[in-house]
Amino acid sequence: MRLLLPAFCLLASGSWLLLSAQDAPHRLASRAAGETPLLADLRELCDTIGGRPTGSPACDRAVEWAARKFRDIGIQNVSVEPFTGQSLWLPGSAEGAATAPVKFTIRIAAAPMSPSTKGPLEARLLDVGEARPEDFAKLGAALKGAIVLVHSAEMKTFDDLFAEYFRNTTLLESARKYHPAAMLLESTRPRGLLYRHPISLDTSYAPMPAAVVSREHAERLARLAEKGEVRVRLAIANQTAPAYQSKNVIAEIRGRENPDEIVLIGAHLDSWDLGTGAEDNGVNAALVIDVARAFHDLGLAPRRTVRFALFTGEEQGMVGSEAYVARHRSELDRFAAVIMFDMGSGHTSGFFLNGREELRKPVSDALSAVDGLHANQQLPDAIDGTDNFDFMISGIPNLVAFQDPSTYLPDYHAESDTFDRINGREEKNNQAIAALLLWSLADNPERPAKRQTRAEVEKLVIDTKLDQQMKAFRQWDDFKAGKRGLF
Ligand SMILES: [Zn+2]
Repeated sequence: MRLLLPAFCLLASGSWLLLSAQDAPHRLASRAAGETPLLADLRELCDTIGGRPTGSPACDRAVEWAARKFRDIGIQNVSVEPFTGQSLWLPGSAEGAATAPVKFTIRIAAAPMSPSTKGPLEARLLDVGEARPEDFAKLGAALKGAIVLVHSAEMKTFDDLFAEYFRNTTLLESARKYHPAAMLLESTRPRGLLYRHPISLDTSYAPMPAAVVSREHAERLARLAEKGEVRVRLAIANQTAPAYQSKNVIAEIRGRENPDEIVLIGAHLDSWDLGTGAEDNGVNAALVIDVARAFHDLGLAPRRTVRFALFTGEEQGMVGSEAYVARHRSELDRFAAVIMFDMGSGHTSGFFLNGREELRKPVSDALSAVDGLHANQQLPDAIDGTDNFDFMISGIPNLVAFQDPSTYLPDYHAESDTFDRINGREEKNNQAIAALLLWSLADNPERPAKRQTRAEVEKLVIDTKLDQQMKAFRQWDDFKAGKRGLF
C-alpha cells in the first residue's frame, strides 16, 4: 500500500481541532497502515464465539461482545436495540445415508427455513436433474413421498450464487404441487464442502425438509439411480418457533457542528453456523469497530454525527436493519448517508452507488484524498441482499462496498468460512477506505445527496431493475403495500 504520510507539523493548541479535522484523512490512513486490533478482534469473535445465527445464544454473546468492544474503546453512546423477528430457524442435527442398493453415509447440511423430518425418513431417491418445472412434470405422481435430488452447477460468480437463490421459487412451487418427502440439493462447491442455503427467502417455512448434499455424494447417488432404485434415509432436526428476539448494537460519536445530521457505517454481526462467519461478515463487523476506534483514538469528531451499526438478522432477510429503519423512522430525514460493508476481506475497488449517480463525486473526492487506495471504480447498480436495503427504499443515500469476490465466494456460508481465510493486508486497506469515506461524508459542509421521495424511490427501483431482485427475495409485496420503505 502506498500512502501519503501526513506531514509533521507543530500545532498551536487553539488551532488544533481545526487542523486535526483538515488533516483527518491522512491521520486515519496512516493509523490504518500501522498496528490496529482489528484482526485480534475478529479472531476473538470467530474463535471464541464462532458461528452465530440470529436467535441463537451465540448471536446474543456476539451482541454483548460487540457492545463491550465499543465501550472499551471509550465511546460514551453505545446502545443495544432489541427487535422481534418472525419464524425462528436454527440448525440442530442432520444425518443422511444411502440404504440401498449400497449403504454409505452422505454428508448433508440442513437448509435454513426447512422443517425437520419427523424422526428418520426413508424413501426412494428420484433425480430431477436441473429441477426445471418440466423436470418435475416428467416424474409427476411418482414424486409423492420420494426424496428428490436436485443437481447444481459449480458456483463461480455472483450470478451463479443469485441463480441458486432464484431457483428456490421453482423448487417450492414444485414441492407444493408434487409433495415429495424431502429435497436434497447438490452442493455447488466441490470436495465435500457444505454450506447453509436458505430454501425460503421470506418468513414462511418450506413445505418439506431440505438439505444441501455434498457434490461427490450427490453425483454417486445420481449414477446409482441411473441403474436402478436407490433408497436414502434422512434424520434432520431443526429448531423452529413463531418468533425470536435479537438485538442491533449501535455506537455513536456526536457531530461537532451539525450533530442532528447522521452518517451511518454498518455491517452485519450475525452469521451462519457451519463456519465461524469470518468473511461473511465478522471481518467487516471488526472493521466497523476499528473505524470507531480510529475516530475516538485520534480525537476526530466530524461535522455530523457518525453512527457505527452492527446489525443482526441479516441472513434472515435483513431483519435487524429493517427494524432499525422502522425504529428510527422519525430521524430518517436527518440521515445524510449510509455505508455498508458485507463482502469479506477482498480488496475494495469501489462502491455500489445503488442508483444514486449524484453520490459518485462525493465518494470519489473522499477516496482521492489519500493516494494509493485504488477504490475509485464506482458502480451505478442498485443491489439487494444486505443491510443498505431498507435505507435505500426509504430514500436515504446509500453505498455498499464492492470487494474482490475471489476470497469471499468459495467460502460463502460454508464450513470453510473461518479466520484463516482472511486477507489481513487487504483488510487494513479496506479499513482505511471505510474510515476516509465516513469522515468525508460526515465532515463535508454539503450533504452528499438529498433524501429521495417515495415517487423517486419507485422510479429508481424500476430504472435499476431492483424490482426483479425484490420479487425474487419476496420483498416486493411489502414494498408495494408501503410496509417496507418508510416515509
Ligand atoms: Zn453477509
